[in-house]
Amino acid sequence: MKIGVLAYQGSFEEHALQVKRVFDKIGKGEVVPVKKTKDLDVDAIIIPGGESTTIGQVAQRMGLLDPLREKVMQGIPVMGTCAGAIMLSKEVTDAKVKNKAQPLIGVMDASIIRNYYGRQRESFEAIVDLEEIEGGRERFVFIRAPAISRVWGKAKALASLNDVIVMAQQDQILTTTFHPELSGTTIVHEYFLKMVKR
Ligand code: GLN
Repeated sequence: MKIGVLAYQGSFEEHALQVKRVFDKIGKGEVVPVKKTKDLDVDAIIIPGGESTTIGQVAQRMGLLDPLREKVMQGIPVMGTCAGAIMLSKEVTDAKVKNKAQPLIGVMDASIIRNYYGRQRESFEAIVDLEEIEGGRERFVFIRAPAISRVWGKAKALASLNDVIVMAQQDQILTTTFHPELSGTTIVHEYFLKMVKR
């Protein structure tokens, strides 16, 4: 299988490494960077963290945003982490800035609040219970993380931290507000790759 990682900014290398670790356990494949429409010939896509406004604007300028949305709507598995989760949500608000429109993929029945945890705690680590995906309690890092405030329709919460949703899924769309690529465990990538047809 061929896994594409959106490579405008954020942790391409770390995501690629996690995917390769999972390949060592289950299946085989390659990881490729995605920047242009021609790079979309992949079996699954990961949208990493970074700044969702920048990622959205660059994707739009590169002509990738609409074809990417189309691919996701056709059913390609996609995982968005942090800013990637923002990109995939239908409703985005900002904890500080009001009514700031930004280009989105906007396919998941989820409402997400950018920069939810505020400046003074831009980054923190927390133990997340992954029982829903048959994982254990794992430590993850949250970097200027958003919060999934609501899911509806076909989307459902997979993990929460202090009553705030930190991981959600809608069919083949998976989002996390934390960074599973910056973790010792590969459980989240493994769960995602199991969705990808071989
Ligand atoms: N705060 C960023 C945003 O709003 C997300 C942070 C991250 O991806 N680490 O896009």
